Amino acid sequence: MNLYPLALRLAGRRVLVVGGGAVATRRVPALLAAGALVEVVAPELTPALRAHADAGRLAWHERRFAPSDLDGAWLVQVAVDDPAAAAQVSAAAEEQRIFCVRADDRAAATAWTPAVTRHGAVTVAVTDDGDRRRALAVRDFVAAALEAAPAAEPATTAGHVALVGAGPGDPELITVKGRRLLAQADVVVADRLVPGMLLGELRPEVEFVDAAKIPYGPSAAQEEINRILVEHALAGRFVVRLKGGDPFVFGRGGEEVLACVKAGVPVTVVPGVTSSIAAPALAGIPVTHRGVAHEFAVVSGHVPPESPQSLVDWGALARLHGTLVVLMGLKNLARIAERLIAEGKPADTPAAAVQEGSTDAQRVIRGTLGSIAAVAAEAGIRPPAVVVIGGVVETLA
Ligand code: SAH
Repeated sequence: MNLYPLALRLAGRRVLVVGGGAVATRRVPALLAAGALVEVVAPELTPALRAHADAGRLAWHERRFAPSDLDGAWLVQVAVDDPAAAAQVSAAAEEQRIFCVRADDRAAATAWTPAVTRHGAVTVAVTDDGDRRRALAVRDFVAAALEAAPAAEPATTAGHVALVGAGPGDPELITVKGRRLLAQADVVVADRLVPGMLLGELRPEVEFVDAAKIPYGPSAAQEEINRILVEHALAGRFVVRLKGGDPFVFGRGGEEVLACVKAGVPVTVVPGVTSSIAAPALAGIPVTHRGVAHEFAVVSGHVPPESPQSLVDWGALARLHGTLVVLMGLKNLARIAERLIAEGKPADTPAAAVQEGSTDAQRVIRGTLGSIAAVAAEAGIRPPAVVVIGGVVETLA
């Protein structure tokens, strides 16, 4: 049998789903994403479908199917286990010339859903004649190929800047969106903490700017980075500003957004997996845990507590019951610990330092608030490292 592949524009059109179980739960989100007016006929709904109904995203008819349910529908999806009930729906659909997808019996269906992968504006649909597994394998193969070489996509991103979080170090911890944009970049401006493996995947013609190599002091260097971002974007290029972790966690991402906005350059932010949560996690430390910590605070330790430049309220942090995560704090760790103890935090509070979390070089040392600075120094812990202070350090240990 020769199938005729089609793409449907379902926005604002009535689509009937018969059944409220696991199959319907998997089918409904794509219909909603296509903007269809989804109506579900089923005596019962799964919690996920019920949440859609409660939020008003679909209409639920709490009963069994009746042929009049098909009136005005463009498409019907049958997702019921009972073959007789399913046959009743497809017969009624046939009568009204409405295409009918049947999850239970494709031979009886007049339409079926392909295996799909979406990449920006491109949707790839793979259909099969009964061998679903093969269709899924082909789909996965195409998806991987598109991820590796999406350069064929038209550059709708020209003249834009994207601030992309690269994650804590493991190149697999960048987001799918971040990776897709990176592969489309004309210019990449990267930080010191960005995983080198990600840069190895760039096409040879991509212009690469190593932000760590910009001379001048830190603030002049930041101005220079802002200038480079704006200049390339105004020249019509797509600039990806790749930053370690999340761009808005001690990454100066906000300053770069402001510089782009000021120059009239469109800018998007792609959040990243921040080391403040991921490095503890990969050391077996959950930043929250039921009955142990109902809060966590992420602070920068790059300024010593007694410095007039410090914006951190160490007294408040000492009173915190939850977890304290200190970034950029190695150099000042002894003074930070002393200050927290002086402000009343018990010296025997568990503490750990995680160096180069998520990479092959990851190291973890444990101690207490009173000992952590000495333990870290003795072990030769080097930046980048996060220090975690709180009961959670022992939760899974
Ligand atoms: N935007 C980044 C943080 C930048 S500040 C993020 O969201 O992760 C730089 C600090 O982040 C480092 O001094 C260190 O404290 C921490 N850091 C970054 N990557 C790390 C990693 N892989 N392991 C441990 N700490 C890391």
